[in-house]
Amino acid sequence: MFGWLAARLGLPLTYEAVRVLPGELAAVLEQTRRGRWDGLSVTLTHKHDALVLADRAVPGATRTGAANCLTRGEDGRLVAHNTDVEGVARALAMHGLSLRGANVLLLGAGGAARAGAVASREAGAARLWVTNRHPARAVELASAFQGEAMPLTGAALASVLPEVDVVLQATSVGLEGSGDSPLPPECVLHDRLTVMDMVYRPLRTRLLRDAEASGARTIDGLWMLVFQGLAQLRLWTGVDPGPEVAPALHAHLAEGG
Ligand code: NAP
Repeated sequence: MFGWLAARLGLPLTYEAVRVLPGELAAVLEQTRRGRWDGLSVTLTHKHDALVLADRAVPGATRTGAANCLTRGEDGRLVAHNTDVEGVARALAMHGLSLRGANVLLLGAGGAARAGAVASREAGAARLWVTNRHPARAVELASAFQGEAMPLTGAALASVLPEVDVVLQATSVGLEGSGDSPLPPECVLHDRLTVMDMVYRPLRTRLLRDAEASGARTIDGLWMLVFQGLAQLRLWTGVDPGPEVAPALHAHLAEGG
């Protein structure tokens, strides 16, 4: 993604993967403060620790409890960001949708779900329900949002679906073509729904195929990946590519780029 963006935009940017074992993150951050890198993307297992170890965090990162991007200021201090929140909002906006006033059902209670919850609250969603395989984590997420999110279990899930406008799928179910759906069979999708799946491998998950068959609008997880990445690029370089770049990047990644 960043190699493609650098080539397309003519940016002198190099982006490399660095394997960081548990316990090594603090040393990597210290090297970044000293100028070895101008910024970092942070993947799954380090997202919470990166937030804690950074020198400062923007409110969106603090609210999600995770950092997926670090920037280095001129004084060398590291700022923690969470661009997944923007990724959710802009993926929806790309499809002409906003979470303002919407009834949102969030599937999952991990880091991606928290980004979905923050995006929903920031946009002014009317209601936010959260459901998760281990219900205690949905309760924990809801309590972190101090009554702004409601945990749902079992039969209650099927009964609220008719009232839902947007489903944000933030579990790992469907990853790598497992063919599973995160929704139990009694949950009936409808054609007033928009379903966004954060899983992007495969692009058309079982949930998105079921949603399409029900006449719902669908948004694949690559859109969120693209927009969270463009937000990282902007934070590191100040460059905000024009509106035509997102669909071109999506097409490039969808082709396996
Ligand atoms: P995470 O913190 O590990 O959370 C994983 C979530 O998936 C938890 O809610 C977990 O439920 C649930 N889950 C896992 N296996 C399950 C199963 N077999 N049945 C039901 N629920 C299951 O991971 P994350 O960072 O939130 O990421 C979640 C997904 O979002 C991943 O597929 C990731 O690739 C994707 N993601 C996409 C983007 C993007 O830009 N498109 C960005 C971030 C993440 P329990 O709590 O019950 O274990």
